[in-house]
Amino acid sequence: MNNRETKSDVILIGAGIMSATLGTFLKELVPEWEIKVFEKLENAGEESTNEWNNAGTGHAALCELNYTVEKPDGSIDISKAIHINEQFQLSMQFWSYLVNSKLISNPQDFIMLLPHMSMVLGEQNVTFLKKRFEAMSNNPLFQGMEFSDDPGKLMEWIPLIIRDRLSNEPIAATKINSGTDVNFGALTRLLFDHLKNNNVDIHYNHKVDNMKRNSDSSWELKIRNASGAVERHTAKFVFIGGGGGSLHLLQKSGIPEGKHIGGFPVSGIFMVCNNPNVVEQHHAKVYGKAKVGAPPMSVPHLDTRFIDNKKSLLFGPFAGFSPKFLKSGSMFDLITSINPSNVVTMLAGGAKNLSLTKYLIEQVMLSKEKRLEELREFIPSAKGEDWDLVVAGQRVQVIKDTEAGGKGTLQFGTEVICADDGSIAALLGASPGASTAVHVMLEVLERCFPEHIKEWEPKIKEMIPSYGLSLLENPELLHEIQTLIAESLMLSAKELVYS
Ligand SMILES: Cc1cc2nc3c(=O)[nH]c(=O)nc-3n(C[C@H](O)[C@H](O)[C@H](O)COP(=O)(O)OP(=O)(O)OC[C@H]3O[C@@H](n4cnc5c(N)ncnc54)[C@H](O)[C@@H]3O)c2cc1C
Repeated sequence: MNNRETKSDVILIGAGIMSATLGTFLKELVPEWEIKVFEKLENAGEESTNEWNNAGTGHAALCELNYTVEKPDGSIDISKAIHINEQFQLSMQFWSYLVNSKLISNPQDFIMLLPHMSMVLGEQNVTFLKKRFEAMSNNPLFQGMEFSDDPGKLMEWIPLIIRDRLSNEPIAATKINSGTDVNFGALTRLLFDHLKNNNVDIHYNHKVDNMKRNSDSSWELKIRNASGAVERHTAKFVFIGGGGGSLHLLQKSGIPEGKHIGGFPVSGIFMVCNNPNVVEQHHAKVYGKAKVGAPPMSVPHLDTRFIDNKKSLLFGPFAGFSPKFLKSGSMFDLITSINPSNVVTMLAGGAKNLSLTKYLIEQVMLSKEKRLEELREFIPSAKGEDWDLVVAGQRVQVIKDTEAGGKGTLQFGTEVICADDGSIAALLGASPGASTAVHVMLEVLERCFPEHIKEWEPKIKEMIPSYGLSLLENPELLHEIQTLIAESLMLSAKELVYS
């Protein structure tokens, strides 16, 4: 056997945050397993995971209004927000473990505290925000949240947004200082450096073209290397962490669990501020309310970001339509993802989501002036010359048949698809995204390695002390964990830990 034909225990396809997280878990749980990674691009974290391709929000449901819905009786349902927050707590614990175990040296390379705020305009929305604040602020997971509709206070919190505002429309905001800005690209590169130093074979410029299951349940992957030559690599377990590229690979695997599933790409565009005087006047992630007809991932937000040790200011994302499934993908991605097994699902999805398609086409057609108009809802005095456009990553939303929604239902969450024998798993969808990579990869471990999970549990608990427990139901553990996270990730305990 030459190095173009190898056998290993695990192959991870794609070098984004998901493969990085799963690879790191496996290295800690079973260091003797041989792991290989194949990535079609030149480096790790170049697609959606790259810091310029996503918003870097540590999604803990502190500010995203789409996770809290108003029920018909007027009360606010915060159950989804609790769920997302608990998932983010798993990520924070795992990252703390990585730092404490010296797998990553400096947490400030990838995470920092940044206030998370929700901001709304109009009487009805202000009433909603106040009720949401009342429902959340006494919950241990959301402690420290403040509400204000007082212009003086808001001026103190978000001067750029309040100054020069001419309309008398009621305005209110909530603020919580325990929010985070996470550089998922940097974190992913750190994790791949760690894996490389621990004998994981990482092959860049290697594109997985096809795969087939062998009679012993292992998988043989057909891979094209940088010089165009075909390599064949076999593994007992394969993780398809190809981001937008995962759907095609799942279809190539031919597993029945991957049938009747389609994908719909939604692209993202941010406006980035090039005027340091403006950048300096804002210090928060401020999420607004989605426009009617807009998908949840295009909720507008004005974000302070810390990228390459530089503070910047981004606004968006504006949604858009491109048939590509990856930023580096092909214009034929959408069409080639439709096959006899999912065509009915896709047609039903298309018919059901005409308003979304119309919305996305309108977004693509937006002129710079129209985009500025949207920005001016946040920064009334925004000047066109201070802002440039950056194209962010592609998100492929899953379309599948569900009991609740029927044929062709568009899903906005993340889906782990596993073969029944656990020999292959794929991750589809991109929300809440990188923030919940740890929760999602734990699901992969539980579903694909049921025979090992009991024996792995003590180590998983060492990495994630709250594994298997609800933090909401264990306030003492929550306090302990917040203290641990603050210390290891060098985040201010004053903002993070409540007693
Ligand atoms: C506009 C936007 C904003 C977002 N904002 C946030 C946010 O604020 N917070 C958050 O938590 N999440 C956010 N997300 C989601 C988050 O970025 C993604 O969920 C996450 O990065 C996905 O990671 P991944 O590893 O699955 O995929 P990716 O990072 O896309 O990595 C997949 C990798 O697989 C490789 N690949 C694909 N096909 C093949 C093949 N055939 N062979 C070899 N390699 C292959 C690709 O080149 C790529 O490197 C956002 C996403 C977008 C697009």
